[in-house]
Amino acid sequence: MEKFDVVIIGAGASGLFCATNAAYRGRKVLILDHANKAGKKILMSGGGRCNFTNMDASPKHFLCNNPHFCISALKRYTPSDFVELVDRHALDYVEKTPGQLFCKDSAKDLLSILLTELEWSGADLRLNTSVKSIDWQEQGAKLTINQNNTQSEIQCESLVIATGGLSIPSMGATGFGYEIAKQVGHSVYPTRASLVPITAQPDRKAQLAELSGVACDIEATAGGAVFKEPMLFTHRGVSGPAILQITNFWQPGEPLKIHIAPELTLESLVKTREEQPKKTVENYLANELPKRLVELMGSELTWLSQKFAQVSNEQLESLVNYLSNFDVAPNGTEGYRTAEVTLGGVDTNEVSSKTFESQKQKGLYFIGEVLDVTGWLGGYNFQWAWSSGFAAAQFV
Ligand code: FAD
Repeated sequence: MEKFDVVIIGAGASGLFCATNAAYRGRKVLILDHANKAGKKILMSGGGRCNFTNMDASPKHFLCNNPHFCISALKRYTPSDFVELVDRHALDYVEKTPGQLFCKDSAKDLLSILLTELEWSGADLRLNTSVKSIDWQEQGAKLTINQNNTQSEIQCESLVIATGGLSIPSMGATGFGYEIAKQVGHSVYPTRASLVPITAQPDRKAQLAELSGVACDIEATAGGAVFKEPMLFTHRGVSGPAILQITNFWQPGEPLKIHIAPELTLESLVKTREEQPKKTVENYLANELPKRLVELMGSELTWLSQKFAQVSNEQLESLVNYLSNFDVAPNGTEGYRTAEVTLGGVDTNEVSSKTFESQKQKGLYFIGEVLDVTGWLGGYNFQWAWSSGFAAAQFV
């Protein structure tokens, strides 16, 4: 039977990083994945250019039922530490929105750095490999694995679960990590798709679909959070940074406020009426907002075709009301099929925030997205993968 110090299940962001750092410490490491390629999600992330960290990352950018859990790992391995690593490999990267670092050319460049480091560290990577069973023993675990239809047994002192969340099943996502956690007595917070487009109710969907591809600045408010970023109309409803962000805080059935162009206030419109009385309201709006959005507004507020001089304060107020409570008629999200992350997961109250070892089963560790830790949109989720993977690597 093959023996390893450490076996890591899941060759995604956190697993690869943990494997490399544990192997650099001299541990004999095997990382396995049932997919035919390591780091598939890295390749599709950030629109193919991977937003690999956020220089501002701090605990306040993470949702977790145990809010202090992520402090220690984020402190021990920071965004600057990761930047130092990619600088050593001369990665070309760009800062888009302040703090958000993306590969300049392709996410492939970042994955290639992670795989080069893995190779240098001497960790062993096995793809197309699934775990059939785990037997907990006095000292670690015995795993029955299946690689390309060949079954074998391996033994390890430390077993790290880095199988991520449920988003994008077509990329290899499974609930394996949650099952293992439950088997040894962990609580798992209910999961739901997040950082995900919102779908509209059927009647409204057809209207919004006419605007598919149109983007505008909004303020999205739900669950006590506010995000002022662009929104994008889609064939199914709405997406874009503001919408993805708010899904970390909103659930179907709860109130969601979409305020288009918050700078268009009653005061500013009254002023425009004084300054440009002969201009039609819709012509004015066409300078401030996308044309197709103004056309939709014109079909719902028919008086917009009038000149400002003919428009009452009540009408301007109804326009402000229309914009500040824009009716998206949300009825759900696109779900795990397109979600960037999974909210919920393994309860961090039962996992050490320093070592990431389970308090239920000695020798078992959880890192990355399988834990009940979810970052905002903007590179925070990868930073969590690096920080948690690095932290566990010091103890496995
Ligand atoms: P993953 O990277 O998901 O890795 C889990 C691995 O486990 C996978 O390789 C999977 O094949 C394997 N696995 C699962 N089940 C099993 C099993 N039963 N047996 C063996 N192996 C298994 N975050 C950012 O910070 N910036 C971005 O730009 C960004 N863009 C994203 C875009 C998209 C479309 C998506 C889906 C996500 C994006 N994210 C982004 C989120 C980020 O990808 C994840 O938070 C991160 O990959 C989580 O790392 P992880 O190691 O926990 O899990």
